Amino acid sequence: LVCKNDFIHALDNDVKPAFGASAEALDYILERGIINWGKPVAEILSAGDVYIQETRDGEGSNLVSVLLEGPPHSGKTALAAQIAKNSGFPFVKICTPEDMVGFTESSKSLSIRKVFDDAYRSQLSCIVVDNIERLLDYGPIGPRYSNLTLQTLLVLLQKKPPPRRKLLILGTTGSRQVLEDMGMLSAFPKKLHVPNLSSPDHLLSVLEEVDLFSKEEISYIHSKTKGKRIFIGIKQLLSLIDTARQIEPRYRIPKFLSALEEEGGLE
Ligand code: ATP
Ligand code: MG
Repeated sequence: LVCKNDFIHALDNDVKPAFGASAEALDYILERGIINWGKPVAEILSAGDVYIQETRDGEGSNLVSVLLEGPPHSGKTALAAQIAKNSGFPFVKICTPEDMVGFTESSKSLSIRKVFDDAYRSQLSCIVVDNIERLLDYGPIGPRYSNLTLQTLLVLLQKKPPPRRKLLILGTTGSRQVLEDMGMLSAFPKKLHVPNLSSPDHLLSVLEEVDLFSKEEISYIHSKTKGKRIFIGIKQLLSLIDTARQIEPRYRIPKFLSALEEEGGLE
């Protein structure tokens, strides 16, 4: 005899929609890992831990929404994925525009709703809503955006999960202003700023982690950047390092330093 309680038990314990696939998606995003280049990184991850705990044990609301906002390439998506992974929640899913290329407005809206519906079936869930302005097809020329997707997100971001269900939403955006203009900022009561690297010490921490330059080379780069201003996102810096890896060793450092300057990362 199957009674209602069995059914509820099954929902709580057996239904783990697409967990495997989602975990893989996170691992793929986190393939290059998180380099602890400075205080902001540790602070963001420990704030993440607090929000995870608040979602799990909080007495108040069963919905915790956090926005990770910062300049392009500063590492927002990877940090959101890392926090989602750290949660260890049975349902973790990332909702990213990269998976919705070529979707019509209505299929985009439907697939976002499906992610939330699946999350509501698990006791503890975490959804990453990645790159929100791009999810909305926002374009600065016009400006234009998908109103259907906007309305869908506005509703879902503020909808309380059913009783005994807890949900952590991690949004990311490269444009806090756009979200403000769309009335979405208030859907995220908690905000984490993801900054660029901003000092030669930050740069050094990355160079020490990436296994490309020798100790001598690193101290040479240090002497060349001392007292200068660094301003670059981790994603962009890693891409410059990837390029440097392909360059003949004797030209590597000067080319790397001039590329850093050209990118506006070094003044
Ligand atoms: P975009 O503005 O294009 O959306 P983003 O800010 O979301 O970029 P990510 O896509 O997260 O940036 O790229 C960050 C890259 O840097 C990832 O490959 C990640 O593994 C790597 N990374 C290394 N250290 C860190 C760190 N401390 N924080 C974030 N990402 C890091
Ligand atoms: Mg991103």
